[in-house]
Amino acid sequence: MEYKIREIPLCTECADVVTNPLCPYCFSRHVLLWLRDKNLDDRQVKKILSGLKKFIIEAEESSTEIDCIICNKEQAYLCTYCSIKNTSLIIEKNSNKEIAELFGEDFNHKLWKNRFN
Ligand SMILES: [Zn+2]
Ligand SMILES: [Zn+2]
Repeated sequence: MEYKIREIPLCTECADVVTNPLCPYCFSRHVLLWLRDKNLDDRQVKKILSGLKKFIIEAEESSTEIDCIICNKEQAYLCTYCSIKNTSLIIEKNSNKEIAELFGEDFNHKLWKNRFN
């Protein structure tokens, strides 16, 4: 079977089909909103944000043609699964496992399933 058909947007990390593409700018914005009421101190939030900047840099270096469903301007290059997985790791590293797990649940179930499907 041929998977690399150009018209189908594939995640640059796992090569899965990208449904609900969110660019790293919009994704980071949602992460930041979500972090607001999690009682993290400024230092932790700053560290998580600088971790997320890595995705923005990678997005600028990768040449996908998957338009973000929110801003329709920037390109997405990771699938939902990889975006959440990578962000959970950053959150866990800079806060704790409970918050990271909560993030995974919220973004998988609430945010993606309700808002974007
Ligand atoms: Zn992926
Ligand atoms: Zn966007």
